[in-house]
Amino acid sequence: MPKNKGRNAFYFFMIDWKKREEARGCTFPNDLKDVQASQKCNEEWQSLTKQQKGLYEARAKKNKIQSERNTNSKKTTFGEPIKFLEEEEKAKREFRLDMHEYLESTIIRAVNHNVLPQLKFCFIHVNWFFTKIVDNITEYFPAEYAIGVFSLENGIEDIHHTIVNAPIPLGYKRQALETSRSNHNIPIENQNGESNFAVMYEKFTNFLKHRKIVDRYPPLYTIKGLTGAVQSLITKLCDAAGQDKEQFLIYEIESLFKHLADEAYKKRADRDIQHTAAYAEYTFTRLDSKYLYKRGNECLIHEFMEGGSEYCSKLVLYRWAWGMCEEFCEPLQIDMKPGVHFPDDTDCTYKLITQSMANLDIKLEIPQISDQCSVVSATGVREQHRIKVSERTYEEKMVLRSKCQPVTVVDHSKLNEPIIDGSGHKKFDERPMRAPNTISYVAATMDDYAPKNDETNFPPIGGRGVLHRKIKEVSRKASLGRGQGYA
Ligand SMILES: [Zn+2]
Repeated sequence: MPKNKGRNAFYFFMIDWKKREEARGCTFPNDLKDVQASQKCNEEWQSLTKQQKGLYEARAKKNKIQSERNTNSKKTTFGEPIKFLEEEEKAKREFRLDMHEYLESTIIRAVNHNVLPQLKFCFIHVNWFFTKIVDNITEYFPAEYAIGVFSLENGIEDIHHTIVNAPIPLGYKRQALETSRSNHNIPIENQNGESNFAVMYEKFTNFLKHRKIVDRYPPLYTIKGLTGAVQSLITKLCDAAGQDKEQFLIYEIESLFKHLADEAYKKRADRDIQHTAAYAEYTFTRLDSKYLYKRGNECLIHEFMEGGSEYCSKLVLYRWAWGMCEEFCEPLQIDMKPGVHFPDDTDCTYKLITQSMANLDIKLEIPQISDQCSVVSATGVREQHRIKVSERTYEEKMVLRSKCQPVTVVDHSKLNEPIIDGSGHKKFDERPMRAPNTISYVAATMDDYAPKNDETNFPPIGGRGVLHRKIKEVSRKASLGRGQGYA
């Protein structure tokens, strides 16, 4: 256990100050030594009000008590104090209890006032470049994030989306590139991205401040697996802006779903009310594959990108919203509108193809002339119509023929002399076509794969072995160019 001598109020101020400056692009190669030596940091510390300093003093005091307790308490095999872990567990349990209590009371209140379809929830999704472990907590470096305001009546009503263009610290570029390539494809340097986390915090809170519930920001809902990444993002934004991260609550969208289901399924006969919690989790794992090909709601960067757009934070929020609407609109008697409650498929190629396939109608009896026999192709154009429209008239053919260039005859006996082609250009030393020197890999290695036609494996029957030997002796000739293989 390192000694805790230097952890006074100024120490905690330096940590915050360093994080804030780093978010603005400053670097500190010697860590806190550089911060301590910085005149700017010292001046800022001096200019703090008594109240502001008090916050850091409280942190120092709390830390002192904790470290004293840690040194005297039992530890796990990893050296973590058991008591501390127990307290952490307890805090987590309490947090979940609070969450369920909040959701239950909010939904019941909305039902009683008949405003459940209008009730607004904030969804949040984040994509990241790399992760690192600091003090046993995984930190995620954001690449893109989106917050959307959702209601059952209007689907995703409003969205705030940001592409991050902050400098990736030394040593993490490779991980960032790899994550980007295998997931979201967001370039690690993007001119249109936002690079200042404090500015991001400002925009983030500006978007949310109209949705405050009695002076508190509304809870942010995300899927279970992403709570760590979202927490990391919030911490990063708050640290950069010097604000308290505790003002944001991150709740699980699965729990929201469960509580909505508890209410809505009372009116839906085909759903079992017993297992809503498990069903909620299943729903959110299924949504990604269900709406994988539904496009049109990506952010600007993913819209014109090949690959990775299914990971787009913006699109993911829509997928969650569609999943919610699919389950709850019907029992709550909300009219489902395309583009709001489910993806608008009017310009979706996938849907067009399926429709065309459904129209595919092959006539069994063939009438007198094939003109009447019509098969609607996948493009929706009849073969007869295509021929009629695309066939050339005699005049058109003649015009095309007159435009043709004369055939150039190449005399290979005069190879070294320049050849003058149709357009008057000189060409030098063109070699004639010849058979390729190489034969394909399969042809060359055939003997390795084919069963051994030797006498041990296939002893000659009735003297036919002679023929076998003859076949083997025939040399394999390379083909003579185009067309030879199409007998
Ligand atoms: Zn995106």
